[in-house]
Amino acid sequence: MSTFQFLQNSTPVGDAERAALLREPQFGSVFTDHMATLRWSVERGWHDGRIEAVAPLSYHPANAAFHYGQQIFEGMKAYRCDGNALLFRPVENARRLARSAERMAMVCPPEDLFLEAIESLVNVDARWIPDGDGSLYLRPFVIADDVFLGVRPASRYLFCVIASPVGSYFKGGAQPITVWVSETYSRAARGGTGAAKCGGNYAGSLIAQSEAIEQGCDQVVFLDAAEGRWIEELGGMNIFFVLDDGELVTPPLGTILPGVTRDAVITLARQAGRRVTERPYSFDQWRSDAASGRLVETFVCGTAATIVPVGQVRFASGDFIVADGSCGSLTAELRDLLQDIQRGRADDPHGWRYSIKLGSGWKARNVAYV
Ligand SMILES: *Cc1c(COP(=O)(O)O)cnc(C)c1O
Repeated sequence: MSTFQFLQNSTPVGDAERAALLREPQFGSVFTDHMATLRWSVERGWHDGRIEAVAPLSYHPANAAFHYGQQIFEGMKAYRCDGNALLFRPVENARRLARSAERMAMVCPPEDLFLEAIESLVNVDARWIPDGDGSLYLRPFVIADDVFLGVRPASRYLFCVIASPVGSYFKGGAQPITVWVSETYSRAARGGTGAAKCGGNYAGSLIAQSEAIEQGCDQVVFLDAAEGRWIEELGGMNIFFVLDDGELVTPPLGTILPGVTRDAVITLARQAGRRVTERPYSFDQWRSDAASGRLVETFVCGTAATIVPVGQVRFASGDFIVADGSCGSLTAELRDLLQDIQRGRADDPHGWRYSIKLGSGWKARNVAYV
């Protein structure tokens, strides 16, 4: 028996319109016909699972999510491969959501329900998985679902998954991006919520991202809050540095978000025989290594953009170019290998792919016509 009852969208997007929408979807602007919802209360635990028409959520204005920011999310992608949809390490997303929930004093679904929601939604909206370079971006999230203005963790929660067909995150695809190093704003502090995937971290990063755009840059790089000296990460991506002795350096976990892509990059690079070090790397060092030629590549990574080279770095009092400003060879190699694994074009020695058999009768078993 499935946890999710299927309430079919009675006015789904037609085939011609969907085909047009799938042609060049701008990131996060097109949504599929359905969403998964699942509710939690102290008395009932997880209940009322549904795959239903995607629609606005209606909440009492005293909901804690509006006032105290009890909100966490995940980001993952489904790729089309023969008759299957492939996910990349979805259990890691389930576990990270659980860690985010713990930090935000929230509740989130156990791994099996998390996966069942994703699998059910992908099956129902399989027609929305783009062919070719595109993918179906999945956005699971949890919000408070309480009616109480007092300050304490909510006693009810909603888990929801929406899906959005996407092309490449940056307009230029794998073209090198320019980053802005913010010396004004920080993203996270020791003991804070930097390692949790919560909306609040993003809210606090938007002003710095706007500053980056004003400066003609694509993304902002945050430094540590205590000293303003150590490189942490971007608003939504982790960062790596390649040095001329072959070492691959990335900032250590703690106040940064533990990216699934970051972890995969570390594993793939080590497997290729490279020395990978998780160690603090300062902005000053980055600058002087770029000037001396010791820095040969810099790249950023995350689910949405996969792996993207950094060509140029700007900050309040200057700028510098990373090597010759083009995409480095390790960056290109890792990007291709990662994408090939994700899309089923390469061997998967680490068992990272999670295959969903499409059209496996899930709908037939769970249809409840409304
Ligand atoms: C989601 C996210 C990342 C990337 O994580 P992936 O699991 O690789 O997608 C990096 N930094 C921040 C702040 C994030 O929110």
